Formats: sequence, structure tokens, C-alpha cells
Amino acid sequence: MKFLAVIGDPIKHSRSPRIHNNAIKTLNLKAIYSRYHLKDAKLLKEKIFKLGLIGANITLPFKEEALKIADFKDEFALNIGSANTLCVKENKIYAYNTDAFGFLEAIKEFKELKKALILGAGGTALAIAYALKSKGIEVLIANRSEKRFLDFKAYKTSLYENLNEFKFDIVINSTSAGLSDENLPCEENLLRKILSNSKYAFEVIYGKQTPFLRLCKEFKLPCKDGLDMLLWQGVFAFELFFDIKDKRQVIKNSMQAALKL
Ligand code: NDP
Repeated sequence: MKFLAVIGDPIKHSRSPRIHNNAIKTLNLKAIYSRYHLKDAKLLKEKIFKLGLIGANITLPFKEEALKIADFKDEFALNIGSANTLCVKENKIYAYNTDAFGFLEAIKEFKELKKALILGAGGTALAIAYALKSKGIEVLIANRSEKRFLDFKAYKTSLYENLNEFKFDIVINSTSAGLSDENLPCEENLLRKILSNSKYAFEVIYGKQTPFLRLCKEFKLPCKDGLDMLLWQGVFAFELFFDIKDKRQVIKNSMQAALKL
């Protein structure tokens, strides 16, 4: 029997056990995926070994620590500065960031992207920015405050009020505005100006008609929410956990079905 878990604080809300366990069942694997509520980042490594995990998804606020404790760090995780997936093999920890791959898979249907605007400068923005950069897409990060720009030294950054470019192929809302409130990520007139010039839009939040998504629909922009990103990051983590390479769509369908259970 193989043991896996999602680790974070808080963790009760996580849907990872549900989606991974359904894929485990579909593929008839001998494994159990649970959740672990960790309070202290310093205990992350110790807990992974004590629980005998062969794999773990790491969520807020331990994604940076997850990278730190790893013996081997995949190029994406290293460049993003955080890991959301850990595999344990022969007492060594391998770190990956599948959020970035999940995002790239989710926007595959958006063609000919050359220039992107990311709204927000948090951990998710870091993963998305690196994913886009890895595809040769020019990225600009805009945020309401400056502090987090320190993490984006490899990118062009701007406060919303200082933005002086308004034409992008894709606009991505990576903020949590709209998650538990009815806020847009930035001032409405600015967003209208940007969206009226854009080809595509993407909202990282899923399962909710956010104000950002509503505005994109008003402009009849092809836009997606974060559901496919969530599912694909799970699929890529699952492939790494079980070393499976040829069942991508089966795993995704099973994970998607689990969300409706
Ligand atoms: P962080 O806390 O690291 O960053 C949040 C960002 O949002 C910051 O730039 C913050 O600005 C900005 N922000 C928050 N509230 C507002 C607001 N009311 N108006 C404008 N800007 C705001 O969060 P993460 O990057 O980890 O997560 C962001 C979102 O991404 C969450 O909603 C999360 O659920 C979602 N997510 C989705 C995934 C998926 O697979 N679909 C995967 C991971 C995350 P400031 O710096 O000024 O505070």
C-alpha cells in the first residue's frame, strides 16, 4: 500500500484527496491519499518521512519550504521558487511545481500568444509567469502594491496606476479578488480598457462566476476559469507519484468526475 497526502494550513477545504483517490480507484492502484494539517513549516520534512509518504502535494503556506527540503529540484520548481508536489524515492525528496504545467495545459486552446498581462504578484503569479516565459511569451506583472515585486526581478512589473501598456494577447487574473468577495482585481475602467484590447482571458479562481469573469463575458472574450489548471496540476502530480505516462486523459476525467461526487 502506498500513502500520499496533501499538506497545508488550513487543509480541511482541500479537494486533493477527493480527486486523487478517485483516480487511484479508476486505475486500480493500491494507495490511499489523505490530508495532513501541519502547523509548523520546520516539521514538514520530518512529517513526510514519519507518515511514510511516497508523495505529497504541498499547499499554502508551505510551498517554499517544500522546495527547501528537497534533495532534487526540478527546473520549474527551482525557477519559480516553490514546489507543490514532492515525491519520495529511496529516502530522497524530489520537488516539482505542477501548477505551472497545469496552467500551460489549461491555456493550450489559446493560440498565438506573444504578450501576457498577469494581474497579481503572489505565488500563483510566479508559477504562471515562469510557465509563460518558458514558452517565450513576454510577461508583465501588475499588482495593487509593490512589496511582492521583489519576487519578480526577472520580469517587468507595474502598479496598476502606473500601467502604460494596454494591449495584451491574454490577461490573467491571478489575484484572490472575487474569491470570497465581489471585487475586481483593479479599478473597473482600467480593466475595461485592457480587456477591450485583449484576445483571451484567464481567471485562476474556479467554481465561481467572479466579477472578473463577468466582465470578460461582457467583452465576449474567450476566457477560462481555474478548473482545468487545478485538474491538470493534479494529473501531472499523479503521474509523478505513480510514474505513469500514458493515461493522462483517463486520470483527468476521473479527477473531474470526483469533483461532482
Ligand atoms: P497570494 O496570497 O500569494 O497572492 C494574492 C495576490 O492577490 C496578491 O498579489 C494580492 O495583492 C492580490 N490580491 C488579493 N486580494 C486582492 C484584492 N481584493 N484586490 C486586488 N488584489 C488582490 O495568493 P496565491 O497566488 O497563492 O493565490 C491566488 C489565487 O489563485 C487564489 O484565489 C487561489 O485560490 C488561486 N489558485 C488557483 C489554482 C488553480 O489551480 N486554479 C492554483 C493555486 C491558486 P497584494 O500583494 O497587494 O496583497
